[in-house]
Amino acid sequence: MKHKEKTFKGLGVAPGIGIGVAHVREGGAIEVPTYPIPARQVAKECARLEAAVTRARRQIGRLRTKARGMSEAVAEELVYLLDAYFHMLKDSRLVRGAARRITGDRINAEAAVEAEMAEIAKGFAAMDDAYIKARVEDIRALATRLVRNLTKTPVKPWSLVPKGSVVVTGELSPADVAQLDRSRIAGVATTLGGAEGHTAIMARALGLPAVLGVPGLIDGAQPGQPMIVDGDTGHVVVDPSPATLAAYERRHAESVRQARRLARLSKQPAVTRDGTEVLLQANVELPIEMTLVKQAGAAGIGLLRTEFMFMNRDDIPGEDEQYQALRDLIEPMKGQAVTVRTLDVGGEKTSAALMGDFGASASSALGLRGIRMSLARADVFETQFRAILRAADHGHVRILLPMVSTVSEVRRAREILGQAASRLKRRGFSVVDPLPALGTMIEVPGAALAADSLAQVSDFFAIGSNDLTMYTLAIDRGDEQVARLYDPLHPSVLRLIQFSTEAALHARIPVSICGEMAGDPRYTALLLGLGLREFSMVASSIPRVKQRIRNLDLVAADHRARVIMDQVDAGRIATLLDDFNALA
Ligand code: PEP
Ligand code: MG
Repeated sequence: MKHKEKTFKGLGVAPGIGIGVAHVREGGAIEVPTYPIPARQVAKECARLEAAVTRARRQIGRLRTKARGMSEAVAEELVYLLDAYFHMLKDSRLVRGAARRITGDRINAEAAVEAEMAEIAKGFAAMDDAYIKARVEDIRALATRLVRNLTKTPVKPWSLVPKGSVVVTGELSPADVAQLDRSRIAGVATTLGGAEGHTAIMARALGLPAVLGVPGLIDGAQPGQPMIVDGDTGHVVVDPSPATLAAYERRHAESVRQARRLARLSKQPAVTRDGTEVLLQANVELPIEMTLVKQAGAAGIGLLRTEFMFMNRDDIPGEDEQYQALRDLIEPMKGQAVTVRTLDVGGEKTSAALMGDFGASASSALGLRGIRMSLARADVFETQFRAILRAADHGHVRILLPMVSTVSEVRRAREILGQAASRLKRRGFSVVDPLPALGTMIEVPGAALAADSLAQVSDFFAIGSNDLTMYTLAIDRGDEQVARLYDPLHPSVLRLIQFSTEAALHARIPVSICGEMAGDPRYTALLLGLGLREFSMVASSIPRVKQRIRNLDLVAADHRARVIMDQVDAGRIATLLDDFNALA
């Protein structure tokens, strides 16, 4: 039979490959009758709405009980969401507005719910913020539930979906996703929905490959057709050719193997064969990474880049907004350390509102970047400190300063931190006592060479090998023309790492490494040999680095590091390291 392979493109919102058979389900739209009601029937119609609301609360209560029995990541997300639904059913514009329409417009309850929903949706569509915009999905899910209850349209149970299905539908509510049995369903593809919605968040939490927002999908896929969902790239393939299928099967098998390794290692300690414990933490750039941080078994967040709050907007986020965002990241870590780095814009990382004031200097890698920018806008700096201090009440927080080159910068930052604390106390906030540890990024060669003096004013160090390599070798991180010269194994970079680490150990302050080097198992033995015991990396790298650590003998790694540090040539260093890695 000839294959008419069709490929669609949507938003890959939950990673992984799903291969199965299309289970097409038309969207949740229900035929809603609209009819006028006489004045004497208004009270009765209001009572119908009330009954539908009560029923919905019971249904949500049952879902909540069910959610509590699910895996931790899913339960946490879903219970939070269902609580919000519960609250909305008590008092929300949707329910109040629908009741008003029954009395004022004299229409039936289901039509009143629909009309109110349409009005609310219009308001949300006008929002600029993608996250807020996506919240309309939650309200729509409730409206659909009320209409179902009013029209007595039962929900087709998801448990009847055949094993091995790829669910294809117009729209899936988060509650729908929570009912999908991960062991029966290979993947999900929908025509509606965005990456910021709870549906996407839930799919990620469940580890269910998902592509949302795929135009033309419903008409393009027939029930029973073979299908592939690629949650990594956002592709959906209907009726794949044997070659396409084989290629995806290979990728699927590899990702299953990797997921198994990940699951197996997440609860294992990161200890070398000869018993030295290593701290493996996560770098977080976007809140969306938190599920993986948990899954990967990270022992805290070693680098929380706060730039995400300042980019892609024309204004500067206020204290409350920053506090909320930080609190949402800190609270789930349940007391594990979270190292919040203060703003590091400038250079390639932009913030329109901040950089506008400083012209070319702010976009130069050698200009007003990181702490230099923060000190130039002490008001913004203090606001960020206040937000961090308030968020510190919800967990264990450390504060990290980027792009430091002199002792005076750290001293001045500490003064501003003190001012932020005093202002908060005057406003009646409780402030953690003692104040959070204040650490310094070692990522400018001058800072590395002055690490012994910086250690006197810093509570900890975090070595940023990305910038340290770039500035030491004078190679732009983002320039592909010189990319081949970018080499963290250059003896100069290694010496700076070694010197900074020794300075920290000598001053008895903690030291970690959080550049990309930390997440590459090729470098693990060498970094351990240089004395580092704390690594922070993108969460998905933690299992691979942990595996490397568990296979390593620290005495041998120390010995190899000593040999390597006697070398003068980066090529020779690479060979010595790769030989060691191949053996142990
Ligand atoms: C680094 O420079 O190594 C680092 C971790 O900081 P960033 O990559 O955010 O500049
Ligand atoms: Mg850096």
